[in-house]
Amino acid sequence: QSHQRVFVVTGANKGIGYEVVKKLSTNQPNDLILLGSRDQKRGEEALVQLGSPSNVKVLVLDTSSKKSIEQAKEELQNKYDGHLDVLINNAGIGINDPSLKALKDTFDTNFYGVKHMNDTMSPMLRDNGRIVNVSSGLGAMTMKECSQDLKTKFLNPDITDSQLEQLFAELFKAVEEEKDPATVGFNPVILPSSDDYFALYYGASKLGVNTLTRIEARDWEKKYSAKNVIISAVCPGFCATDLNGNAQGARSAELGADSILHAVYTENLENGQFWRDGSHLPF
Ligand code: NDP
Repeated sequence: QSHQRVFVVTGANKGIGYEVVKKLSTNQPNDLILLGSRDQKRGEEALVQLGSPSNVKVLVLDTSSKKSIEQAKEELQNKYDGHLDVLINNAGIGINDPSLKALKDTFDTNFYGVKHMNDTMSPMLRDNGRIVNVSSGLGAMTMKECSQDLKTKFLNPDITDSQLEQLFAELFKAVEEEKDPATVGFNPVILPSSDDYFALYYGASKLGVNTLTRIEARDWEKKYSAKNVIISAVCPGFCATDLNGNAQGARSAELGADSILHAVYTENLENGQFWRDGSHLPF
């Protein structure tokens, strides 16, 4: 039992996360793959769609809820001996709406969801554990559009997570006061689809994931270096999924899953880097 490795994939009932679980279930026949789904029924339907392989189980987990994350942790402790080897923070959303609620909802899943998952789950990671924070090239593009002052702050190698949250608090305040986010240094990436608020809110949340990955890798090297835990940010590439209305011309979710799995399977992976298809992306 204790040699069985435990994989958790969040938001795995469809899209890229589902393809990640599908590949893991074939690649790791003797290991345990937990298919994260915020909705139990959708999780179970996905399991059936996979052919109910014996090495895959559903884990009900809403990453925007601290309570749900705590419950998932208890389930790991009670049912699976509190073991965790690979955590793939894949759950993500994008909303094209200017409201403060849209911004909050996007951050609760995409940014805080990843942070709370890692804070809660990382103590369970065993030796040679891996964490993959699924991000997006749009996070890096969003940084490029930021004011010079903001860019310097995001790229500060000593930035702390509370300082990072403070940078986003400025964006939240501007949106709440109905000010142009550009007045606090945030400009949207211009997408062909002109989904400006999707681009800005989603892009900022992924810029947060990238910066968080650098912070976590730096700080965890101190905390967990003996365990050789490697943490990465990965862009799956532009994939046709429900997130983008199954965009024409985009790659398959299966290829996106391969991009994520590079950061799981590559030996001697550099800690705290940003990858797509096994190649470095600049933060
Ligand atoms: P999908 O919309 O197809 O899938 C998203 C998954 O996340 C669904 O299973 C969804 O569950 C789940 N989810 C959303 N919110 C939560 C939450 N709070 N708690 C738990 N699960 C949640 O999108 P993709 O497969 O495309 O996206 C997967 C990841 O890849 C995301 O992080 C996305 O940002 C990233 N990405 C995607 C790109 C693309 O082109 N598709 C490009 C770059 C990055 P439910 O069914 O319940 O809604």
